[in-house]
Amino acid sequence: MVSTTLAEKMTTVRFRPDHEPHIVVDGDICRDCTLHTCVYVCPANLFSLLSDGSILFNHEECFECGTCYVACNREGAIHWRYPGGGRGVSFRDS
Ligand code: SF4
Ligand code: SF4
Repeated sequence: MVSTTLAEKMTTVRFRPDHEPHIVVDGDICRDCTLHTCVYVCPANLFSLLSDGSILFNHEECFECGTCYVACNREGAIHWRYPGGGRGVSFRDS
């Protein structure tokens, strides 16, 4: 049986970001959040908690898994859509 490491798998991933961010985080809603679930659940580590308590987010290497949207406990904090026009993440078989 051939096993594949995560690093090997990641070489099959390509990102072509949308011109407009496909995920927008509302900093006003996040300000009172104490859980910061997004920071811990995103498999691509795209959310960072800054020292002033605000959230820094970068959409460019998103796997489009939807986990942040499902895990966030504040309605309206995350606006989520798929990237348009064939953009976003793509995976090759090998
Ligand atoms: S996106 Fe959701 S989980 Fe993350 S800081 Fe904002 S409110 Fe909290
Ligand atoms: S959709 Fe997935 S990979 Fe993209 S920001 Fe949300 S949790 Fe991270």
